Amino acid sequence: MDSLLWEEAVRFHGHECPGLAIGMKACEAIIGKMNIKLNKDEIICITENNTCPLDGIKYVFGCDYDKKNLFYKESGELAFNIFNINNKDSLRIIYKGKNNTNSNGEYTKYILNENVDELFDFSKVKYSL
Ligand SMILES: [Zn+2]
Repeated sequence: MDSLLWEEAVRFHGHECPGLAIGMKACEAIIGKMNIKLNKDEIICITENNTCPLDGIKYVFGCDYDKKNLFYKESGELAFNIFNINNKDSLRIIYKGKNNTNSNGEYTKYILNENVDELFDFSKVKYSL
């Protein structure tokens, strides 16, 4: 991941943590898999968790509860349902990475450097907006 982008995301989030790393890698995966053009495509996210990783989605895609392009549907899973309004494409992404490290710093580094296909599973969203 671009280190400047990571630093800006950390500033947005308020601290450096594995959760934010998961969120930022999720964005990297979403952009790649859905071929999203930032600042052009209109993204709506239905998140299944309300923890640190969500700030990655907020930061990269500008999703926010107040802007009505972010909604919360709790499942206990670390998963995001992403809709591209412009082409009706959708993707559910769920975290499957494992923490085999001894510290948050090492875990963060592992996430940031790991291949997105090792960190996440992908499927179609089973519902429409
Ligand atoms: Zn955090």
